[in-house]
Amino acid sequence: MNTPSSAQGVYWDLNDIYKGLDDPQIEADLQACQAGSEAFSKTYRGLFAKKPSAELIRTALAELESLYQKLSQLGAYAGLRTAVENLNTGCRQLEDKIDQASVDIQNRLTFFDLEWLEVPEAEALKLADAPELQNYRHYLISSRRYKPHTLGEKEEVLLNQKSLTARGAWVNLFDEFLASLEYRLEYDGETQTLTQPALLALSYQPDRNLRKAAQECLYNELSSHELVLTNVYNAITQDHSLNDQIRHYNNPIESRHLANEISPLVVERMQAVTEANYDIAHRYYRLKARLLGLDKLATYDQYAPVATKMPSCSYENGRDMVLAAFGKFDPSMQGIASKFFEHNWIDAEVRPGKRGGAFSASIVPTIHPYVMLNWTDKLRDVNTMAHELGHGIHQYLSREQTYLNFHHPLPVAETASVFGEFLTFDHLMGIEQDPEVRLGLLCSKVEDAFATVFRQNVLTRFEQTAHAARREQKLSSPDLCQFWWDANHKLYGEAVDMLELYRWGWSYIPHFIHTPFYCYAYVFGELLVLSLYRMYQEEGQAFTPRYLELLRSGSKWAPAELLQRVGADINDEHFWQKGFEVLRSLVNQAEELATKLGR
Ligand SMILES: [Zn+2]
Repeated sequence: MNTPSSAQGVYWDLNDIYKGLDDPQIEADLQACQAGSEAFSKTYRGLFAKKPSAELIRTALAELESLYQKLSQLGAYAGLRTAVENLNTGCRQLEDKIDQASVDIQNRLTFFDLEWLEVPEAEALKLADAPELQNYRHYLISSRRYKPHTLGEKEEVLLNQKSLTARGAWVNLFDEFLASLEYRLEYDGETQTLTQPALLALSYQPDRNLRKAAQECLYNELSSHELVLTNVYNAITQDHSLNDQIRHYNNPIESRHLANEISPLVVERMQAVTEANYDIAHRYYRLKARLLGLDKLATYDQYAPVATKMPSCSYENGRDMVLAAFGKFDPSMQGIASKFFEHNWIDAEVRPGKRGGAFSASIVPTIHPYVMLNWTDKLRDVNTMAHELGHGIHQYLSREQTYLNFHHPLPVAETASVFGEFLTFDHLMGIEQDPEVRLGLLCSKVEDAFATVFRQNVLTRFEQTAHAARREQKLSSPDLCQFWWDANHKLYGEAVDMLELYRWGWSYIPHFIHTPFYCYAYVFGELLVLSLYRMYQEEGQAFTPRYLELLRSGSKWAPAELLQRVGADINDEHFWQKGFEVLRSLVNQAEELATKLGR
């Protein structure tokens, strides 16, 4: 049973996308996409062989954008409905139908990108530089990076079709299976049946035995589904490996780097610097053990509250704080965030059949984004709200771009979210007088940063090991558990005891299934923001326009160039270390405050 929070009744209003599952516009749009893609194919097949003018290419790209845009709108609507109504078969049927139609439509449009790849390099570069195509320059050039990894049209169409019953089917099984699990927590003579978000929320409880019982309950339940979870993970990693073979990628992470447009060297350096700073984590874990009155921290203590009197926070209060924090940075940012509340673009209530976690979904340039939260009245929910609204503002502002430049490249996708968290943290520290609560805030800030930097690096290391091993042979549950254990042990070292069942920690992480190697983007994003935030502190208001410009730019430029424009050089060897110095100073502040409080 979920305890109702102050966000009860906070549903989103999806009418700006469609009026309901039976909105006739859905069918009309689907048919328009079908017909439009057929017409597009008739008109433009063979275009590049005819040495087209830049003007004609621009017209074709604009038509392509409007088709993709309609298709995204359909997919987004079905996706958002399913996210909060997992048990509604109507939503799932619509999602299936649109997925199926999308595959057909995309197959019909695939020729365009493939024919563009056939244009000889020099000619292609000349075309991309034409003033008429300025808006599409990055798209045209970056889409050619897949050339060595792209097959013929027949094969691409076939792979795309088969992906529904291959990768896609495993992803669906994973999502639906995890959402269907119920966790029976036996504690203090009582048995409660909890959803996963409610169970995970217990790791923030002050009662150590309860935290331990909750962690044991989570992993016991997951490990009892070993057959499903290990098979899903094997299928996903094998599919990835087959794809790598078919598309000639040398190592499992290479396709992600290419998608991210980030050089492998930048990521390797970032991971190495992260590991060289694991001592910051050890220092903090020892401080935290001291604050909790323990000899040594255990995995289930990481998020235990250090301040016993942390106030709870209603949904309305959370809203007011986030809006005030954003407003201090820039009034226009506050204005955009307000719209989410005023126009019901947020779904915040916890209820059965709703996905766990939180996200902000960009829809299409003509429609605003939507935010999903699971609000539980904890002060930490404010942080999640700031995070997702940061995304929301980023997505809202990038609507100035046309569809092909609208989506953020992954490496900067977490910039506005983490920046939003920092603004909110500073605001809270500015108004909070009680030293106990201030220590609590500081510790949760440090813990959140650890979860984004250190933990996500551990997750990435796990994936690197697991995917490399899957290229050799099928992975057993003990293999996966051991890879997880080893990657975590490097971070926790002697400072944290790992619960034996913690081995199962790999088995429920959606990113591993949805987007392998996504997680390093979190490390990248957080460290990037630590450095950007320092620039803001140094420069004050002079920094704001450059920052907002970054958010407005969508993916009009490659990540390194986007960041260069805001003044961040990701190739600079000191760049990553700078972020850790900010983190180190937060840990210092926490240590000092703890000593001052005699704890
Ligand atoms: Zn995020």
